[in-house]
Amino acid sequence: MRALSHSAIAMYLDCPLRYKLVYVDRLETEEKFYFSFGSSLHKALAFFYDVKVLHPPSLEDLLKFYEDNWEKEGYENEKQEKEYFEYGKQILIEFYNKHIKDYHLPFAVERRFNFKVDEIPVTGYIDRVEKLPSERVEIVDYKSGKALFELDQLRKDSQLSMYQMAMEEAFGLEVERLTLYHLRSQTPFSIGPHSREQIEVMRRHIVEVAEAIQKQEFKPKRGNYCPCEFPQFCPYYRHQYMTEEEKKIKAFPDMKIEQVVEEYGELKTKYKELDVKEKELKEILCKYFEDKGVREICSGNHRIYQLIIKKDEYDDDKVRKVLEPERLWERVISLNGKMLSELLKDPHLSVDVKKRLDSIKTVKETSQIRHGRVKDNERKI
Ligand code: SF4
Repeated sequence: MRALSHSAIAMYLDCPLRYKLVYVDRLETEEKFYFSFGSSLHKALAFFYDVKVLHPPSLEDLLKFYEDNWEKEGYENEKQEKEYFEYGKQILIEFYNKHIKDYHLPFAVERRFNFKVDEIPVTGYIDRVEKLPSERVEIVDYKSGKALFELDQLRKDSQLSMYQMAMEEAFGLEVERLTLYHLRSQTPFSIGPHSREQIEVMRRHIVEVAEAIQKQEFKPKRGNYCPCEFPQFCPYYRHQYMTEEEKKIKAFPDMKIEQVVEEYGELKTKYKELDVKEKELKEILCKYFEDKGVREICSGNHRIYQLIIKKDEYDDDKVRKVLEPERLWERVISLNGKMLSELLKDPHLSVDVKKRLDSIKTVKETSQIRHGRVKDNERKI
């Protein structure tokens, strides 16, 4: 089985069909400028720390590397690209000035990891790993997006759970701190290691996703990110991309499906409006029946009448008290209305039990509004 990365698992959980299109069918994904921007910054920061001896690159070297390795894909136009390029440069200058004073060689930079969860291969990269005085490690993940983080978010972050698993299981290192480094504000957000329970949740997700992939479960799942870059392959959006020929209804070749949808939609809207109106009128009629003490009202062609429905009701505990000593409760099992009425019809049921059941019975009355046409012989002469 192909190794699973965190982004593959996250994509599967978001939408299994999109996962299939990207990871199984290998359709080309649309370039997004924010991925290019993030990747350019990540590469420059890896360059900054990935030195063999304790001699940091100069700021000029760092910016030159950034410029030479700038990823230009996905920007809407040159202006936008230039603005982001300059913004990235500013972020790197601030990062350099902040961290050059305590420059040191990290334990690992852009560290690739591979490990297995129940024989399922898992892979990925960690931006930076720091060895702390306690001999435990800190995992640092750079974030180039705008949004700042709540510490609670870090506590639930499944990517951090996976990185922690990787450190512990692939490298046998204990994790002391998990950090998301917000590049735009130069702010590290840190928490302690994720709990064992969270690691277990991640492990379960990995196993569940791997099993579903092996069973080829690739159903589309709609979400906020829809439509993704493959609407023409998705049952929810594909119709918009079908030709007129493909849309044709075999049994009704002259009918356009959009027309059917339009009519159906109009009808449903009307139904809803009529339903609201019906409820309003019913309320007026019920009130009228009650206020005037009448049971039927006729207009020119229609008559509306009130139907009173009586229903016997029993209290569960009281019925049980009557039936249990007679060993009859089992026939009713809790208060099942149908079974109780069958018991009442039983010719062998003693008169006394019948009487006692009758004495605990309450009769509930409900009224219903019915409609009919006025017949000629019913009209007022
Ligand atoms: S449009 Fe939405 S539901 Fe359809 S494949 Fe893309 S992500 Fe999945």
